[in-house]
Amino acid sequence: MPPPTNQQAITVALMQTHKRIQEACQASARTTDEVMLLAVSKTKPLSDVMAAYDQGQRHFGENYLQDALEKIEHCTVEDIGWHFIGTIQSKKAKTITSKFDWVHTLDRHKVALLLNQHRPPHLPPLKVLIQVNISNEVNKSGVALAQLEDLVAQVSQLPNLLLCGLMCIPAAGQTEHMQRAAFTQMAAARDRLKQTYPLITHLSMGMSGDLGYAIACGSSIVRIGTDIFGARSTSSP
Ligand SMILES: *Cc1c(COP(=O)(O)O)cnc(C)c1O
Repeated sequence: MPPPTNQQAITVALMQTHKRIQEACQASARTTDEVMLLAVSKTKPLSDVMAAYDQGQRHFGENYLQDALEKIEHCTVEDIGWHFIGTIQSKKAKTITSKFDWVHTLDRHKVALLLNQHRPPHLPPLKVLIQVNISNEVNKSGVALAQLEDLVAQVSQLPNLLLCGLMCIPAAGQTEHMQRAAFTQMAAARDRLKQTYPLITHLSMGMSGDLGYAIACGSSIVRIGTDIFGARSTSSP
C-alpha cells in the first residue's frame, strides 16, 4: 500500500485559502499579488509540504528548528523559501541563518548580530522582519513599539541582513475592534519607517483566524497553518 497522503485535502484547502485571500483583497481594493501566502507547516511531515508544493506553493513557515531541519535537509527541490517564525534562541542563531531564507521573529540586537555574523557568504543577505509586541503582552516575544526605531537603526546597518518589514501576533481572544486596532498600528509603523528605510515594505500579519482583517489593514504576508494542513496535535515535537 502506498503511504497515506493528504494530497487531496491539502489541494482543496489551499484553493479555499487562495479564495479567502482573493475575497479579502477584493473587499479592500487590493490585488492578490500584494499578499504572499506563507504556508505554516510546523509539526507536519515533508510529504505535506510537497503536496502543497505540487500545487504551486513555494513559501513555508516553520517554528521548531529540529522539526524544520529534518524537512529542509530531506527536501530535494531548490525553489522553496523557508521562513523561520518561531522564537530564536541565541545558540540556534547560527543554524537558523545557515538554513533559512527569511526570519520573521527578530526582536533583539544581540540576535541580529549573530544572524549577521554567521550568514554563509555564498548566500544572499537573510531577509528579516522585526517582531513587534503590538498588544504589549508581558513575557511575549517582540520589541515594544517605543523601542522599534532604535532596533531598526541597528539592524539596518548589518550587511548580511536585509530588513524588509515588520511582523506581529496580536494577543489571543481579543475583540475584532482591538485586533483591527493592533493591525492598523502596525501598518502605521511600517509606513512611517518606510520613509527613512525604503526597503521596509512587508507586514507579516494574519493567521487562519484573522486573515481578513489583516489584509484589510495592509498585511503583505499571511501565515496560514491550520486552514491548509489541518489541526496540529497540541504538543510541540
Ligand atoms: C502556528 C503559527 C501560525 C499559523 O497559525 P494557524 O492558526 O495554524 O494558521 C502563524 N504564525 C505563527 C507565528 C505561528 O506560530
